[in-house]
Amino acid sequence: MRHVYLHVPFCRRRCSYCDFSIAVRKRIPAREYVEAVLQELALVRDSSDGALETLYLGGGTPSLLPPNALKTLLTSLRDAFHVTPSRDDVEVTLEANPEDVTPESATAWRRAGVNRVSLGAQSFDDRVLKWMHRPHDAARIGHAVRALRAAGIDNISLDLIFALPAELERDWARDLDLACSLLPAHLSLYGLTVEERTPLARWVSRGATSVPNDDRYAEEYLLAHARLAACGYAFYEVSNAARDGHRSRHNSAYWSGRAYVGLGPAAHSFDGRARRWNTAAWEAYRRALAAGRSPVDSEEVLTDEQRELERAYLSLRTDTGVSLSAYPANRLTAWVSAGWATIAGGYVRLTPEGWLRLDALVGDLTALHGTV
Ligand code: SF4
Repeated sequence: MRHVYLHVPFCRRRCSYCDFSIAVRKRIPAREYVEAVLQELALVRDSSDGALETLYLGGGTPSLLPPNALKTLLTSLRDAFHVTPSRDDVEVTLEANPEDVTPESATAWRRAGVNRVSLGAQSFDDRVLKWMHRPHDAARIGHAVRALRAAGIDNISLDLIFALPAELERDWARDLDLACSLLPAHLSLYGLTVEERTPLARWVSRGATSVPNDDRYAEEYLLAHARLAACGYAFYEVSNAARDGHRSRHNSAYWSGRAYVGLGPAAHSFDGRARRWNTAAWEAYRRALAAGRSPVDSEEVLTDEQRELERAYLSLRTDTGVSLSAYPANRLTAWVSAGWATIAGGYVRLTPEGWLRLDALVGDLTALHGTV
């Protein structure tokens, strides 16, 4: 496998909007976690073809792992996938929360092999961060970026959330400008969604906050495109923008339909034909491995139709686009006339206005494809 994802499920508390598979813990059970992942690694290592290209530690909050636990994991993963110490071309990303980044932790991460950090900034407004139940304040984001750079980690991505409820009066343009002023290599922007069983869903159901509306979403999404383009960033995927070609190699592998292996609770794997996912709950995952059982919960083999739908969806969500010759030309040219797509070099690529309608356009395309 050339691409490996490791899910670190622990968080200190749950953010107001988050429905991820996490385990909220005051004390991170690092020793038990490392033991369980190494047991899972022993089960999958034989399927490795030895050409690891990217390793991504996501969560949860991977930056909560103590440095020695992180080092053990990264060393074991590199060994399992035959990465020699001299190879420095493997993209190793760690998701981190700003409050966990200190000069010491950043140096330890760099020494352990991390060369890219995705920082959960979310906003530069302290009031908004509090509403989100984030433990950091805005000043901490700049401190984190500087500490990472001083430790030799320049490949930094910032996550921001947009389309917040109107009553928060969040100044999205200001947040974009402050993000740009830190010159991160990469930015990921996510529209707020109200997921079931989150504090946000409860606030909405009792009328304490409003559901963000589509107009606000569209307005802020388009503003981000304009603002970030002016700062030298290019969107290469519906939610991701990079400057100077610093695309996420790991996420790009997902979007181009390549195989990957996922380790840890709730992690997904894909071998080009079938998708598998691990049991989501941390304790159940740990118990399965301790008993010598596989933590895989389920798997689905994609039908030809599903594969076609997925191929179209992945290509259209990125700047790869779809081949003009693969679909009825009149429909694609209608998208161009509506301002939702452009055509160049035989490929149709969505514009920001098109990305706002991604799901509908993919549905349109695949329904048509079935009739050609
Ligand atoms: S830190 Fe991330 S994973 Fe953890 S609760 Fe917040 S949004 Fe969810």
